[in-house]
Amino acid sequence: MAAPDILQHVDEFSLIRRYFSHAPEPLETSGVWLGVGDDCALLQPSAATRLAVTMDTLVAGVHFFQDTDAMRLGHKALAVNLSDLAAMGATPRWVMLALTLPAPDQDWLAAFMAGFMALARLHGVSLVGGDTTRGPLSITVQAMGEVPVSVSGMRRDAARAGDLVCLSGQVGLAGLALRQILRGDLLPEPSAMDALEKPMPQVLMGVLLRDLVHACIDVSDGLAQDLGHILQASQVGATLIWEQLPLAGCVRDDCLMAEDPFMPLTAGDDYQLCFTVPPERMQALEQRLADHALSCHVIGCIEAEPGLRIRMKDQIHALPVCGYQHFV
Ligand code: ADP
Ligand code: MG
Repeated sequence: MAAPDILQHVDEFSLIRRYFSHAPEPLETSGVWLGVGDDCALLQPSAATRLAVTMDTLVAGVHFFQDTDAMRLGHKALAVNLSDLAAMGATPRWVMLALTLPAPDQDWLAAFMAGFMALARLHGVSLVGGDTTRGPLSITVQAMGEVPVSVSGMRRDAARAGDLVCLSGQVGLAGLALRQILRGDLLPEPSAMDALEKPMPQVLMGVLLRDLVHACIDVSDGLAQDLGHILQASQVGATLIWEQLPLAGCVRDDCLMAEDPFMPLTAGDDYQLCFTVPPERMQALEQRLADHALSCHVIGCIEAEPGLRIRMKDQIHALPVCGYQHFV
């Protein structure tokens, strides 16, 4: 245990040694030839795969409340990146972590890394490098995964008229938590808080989908906006059915009480996968998911007519393709 005065004067290199370095892992399973500690990591990708690479930043006050529990923040910083890999059907392999910290608060760092590494271990992902700087709290993670060259990669431009639109799980729970916090509710719904602060990336689902589905995206900015990206890239439209949306009871009740039935489509932070499947492949897909104790929900259909529509109680509503945006 370090003395308190050292805690205040700890330098960047001892932080790196203490929190980001770890014993070398076997090359055969980790693909890490050289990890944290040199100018670059040296990685050994598997044969006949393409590298899937993604990066996401979380900024204090924009993506999370300043007082968010550090362990949950560590989990979420990695989860949002693994969710992007899942949306391409990639098997996660390696991550890099760029941390900008206001101060070298070791309790905070220990908790942050515990959350981060627990999720990394769960998915067999190695932390292979990063950067550590001082400044306003900001967390950037780069994640790398592999997709077999034999699959086309679930691109956003691959949806076709006639495809079914599916969701891997419930939407709107994180949105409900945010609404309850901003409204000043004394006790936000615990399951909603978990969805907001501890999302589980749909990694296995993404891998199981990769040779069966057309387009796929992870729902981070709201279903309407994210499905909208697929529709625009694929030059198609879609009609969803409100009654078929997988909603938790508390989300459904709150939507109806607040007379805002479309909140689960605009709120975001869900980290479910939204994907399009040709109907003739649906049975094979459901069987494969069931073999892994997973399932999905059909929520609508891709159509040639552009635009996003939703049917609720037999009335069709046009949905603006909107969700969270940083520069408006
Ligand atoms: P350089 O000066 O060459 O950029 P650094 O001193 O920034 O090297 O980092 C030393 C080593 O520690 C590198 O291998 C780097 O990838 C790793 N590293 C630094 N910060 C982090 C971090 N937050 N997470 C993981 N690895 C880190
Ligand atoms: Mg550096």
